[in-house]
Amino acid sequence: MLLDGLKLLASDDAADRVAYGRDLWPRHHLGVRSGRLPAGPAAIVWPRSTEEVAEVVAWARKRSVALVPFGAGSGVCAGVLPSSDAVVVDLKRMARWRRFDRGAPLLDVESGHMGLPLEERLNREGFTLGHFPSSILCSTVGGWVAARSAGQASGYYGKIEDMVVALECVTGRGDVVTLRQRATGPSLLPLVIGSEGTLGIITSVTLRLHPAPAARAFAAWSFDSTREGWQAMRALFQRGLRPAIARLYDPFDAMLAKQGSAKRRTHTGPHAPGAGSAVLRTMLRNPAALNALLATRSFTRAAGGAMLVVIFDGAGDDAEANAERARAIVEPMGARYEGEGPAQKWLAHRYSVSYRQAPAIAAGLFIDTMEVAAPWAKLGELYEGVLRAVGPHAFIMAHFSHAYPDGCCIYFSFAGSASPDGGPWDAACEQTYDQTWRRALDAVLAAGGTIAHHHGVGRSKAPRMDRELGSGGIAVARAVKRAFDPDGILNPGALLPPEEARP
Ligand SMILES: Cc1cc2nc3c(=O)[nH]c(=O)nc-3n(C[C@H](O)[C@H](O)[C@H](O)COP(=O)(O)OP(=O)(O)OC[C@H]3O[C@@H](n4cnc5c(N)ncnc54)[C@H](O)[C@@H]3O)c2cc1C
Repeated sequence: MLLDGLKLLASDDAADRVAYGRDLWPRHHLGVRSGRLPAGPAAIVWPRSTEEVAEVVAWARKRSVALVPFGAGSGVCAGVLPSSDAVVVDLKRMARWRRFDRGAPLLDVESGHMGLPLEERLNREGFTLGHFPSSILCSTVGGWVAARSAGQASGYYGKIEDMVVALECVTGRGDVVTLRQRATGPSLLPLVIGSEGTLGIITSVTLRLHPAPAARAFAAWSFDSTREGWQAMRALFQRGLRPAIARLYDPFDAMLAKQGSAKRRTHTGPHAPGAGSAVLRTMLRNPAALNALLATRSFTRAAGGAMLVVIFDGAGDDAEANAERARAIVEPMGARYEGEGPAQKWLAHRYSVSYRQAPAIAAGLFIDTMEVAAPWAKLGELYEGVLRAVGPHAFIMAHFSHAYPDGCCIYFSFAGSASPDGGPWDAACEQTYDQTWRRALDAVLAAGGTIAHHHGVGRSKAPRMDRELGSGGIAVARAVKRAFDPDGILNPGALLPPEEARP
């Protein structure tokens, strides 16, 4: 049997294999809807220690078995999509705090720790990590680091890579390696951050902590156009302010945000296509007309314009003082002050994300999101380019969720109809989905943007990494892969485009 010789918790039960056969990549769900249910991996193992992870790697290397590290499976780019002969390594039984140093303040925590319980325990100790991805309820520390995650408060606390001081991982050679931030010479730490399980299995991470914020200040503004909104956002960051939260919503997304969106609906029954899906499907038969309607001045006015919400974290009066400074910067630029309410409401619903794609898919619709980024000077070209490329084929809206002095992330959401007659899923429907993605990513690259800001690359965007890194960059990335994982057993197929068959 496959797991012969391994002495740790493992399963090749059919139900476990189906459950571990994927992450939350929407394309996979469309495939299932079309009747293709993959068998999943050959088996799943649940190591409890770094030694056990090293044991699994040594075992797999000897037998040339592929290993796919698994955090909580909340990725949306097919970072987890194991072949039927691969073994999934679920890290969630490794969730201990190894060292908590209040003075530093630092925490060395095992990689399988889930997000929300980590933040809650830190809060009880008077600290925060400052990392709040919308998926905090269903993602792990290891998954954050492996996929280079960004939390909602990235404006002040940074992305996950800004929080990692050191990490321990088991490479594809089976070596246990600790990488630290270094003051001299090249740092190897950034190679593993964002490597999506292709270089090493991360077993623990040392994270930089912050005192839990003692004060918060809230503000929101509306704008006549999305462009005016991002110019205000740019001004805030370039004038030295660092709001923890800065999110700009286009007029349609702003309208949804004001309503509190899907999350407040409590729906416990089985999910079936309802009247809402039918209406949406009818509207999506002509996405170009829908997008054109939503781009009109009259719709923008009716929706109340684009909306920027900001939240400043601080120790005392500084949070309020920064909110006042923000007002002084953006209001002369045409921003209309909307008070504290919208930002407070946003905070109350910060994790209210809808995971309910099934009814939409059953109704013949697809929904997906794309988070990309560009320097400020190229942001307009990227935004307009993606709207132009996707708009004729799918409904599209956007918000701007992570800003920096030099650029910004745009988070597009798009929805399309399965087929012109709204029939059940078939190959043509999947084609529409694939074409929408191809057009969108081409537009991002043509505008000089990056194809992923925080969801990672996985298998869905891997074919575009040659354009993202260039041929020289790809060659270096492959050399690094060979150094860490000479037999190519770690998460094959993720992150890099398939290698040309060697003669
Ligand atoms: C509704 C929703 C909202 C989301 N919001 C955000 C958001 O706000 N910000 C954000 O950044 N992301 C977001 N995501 C994406 C996702 O949650 C992140 O990519 C997250 O970092 C994945 O963590 P995970 O533990 O679930 O990892 P998984 O999905 O299990 O794995 C992700 C990748 O990392 C690898 N991996 C996992 N653990 C390890 C390990 N210990 N060692 C080596 N490799 C490993 C896997 O092989 C895979 O390639 C969202 C997803 C959903 C579904």
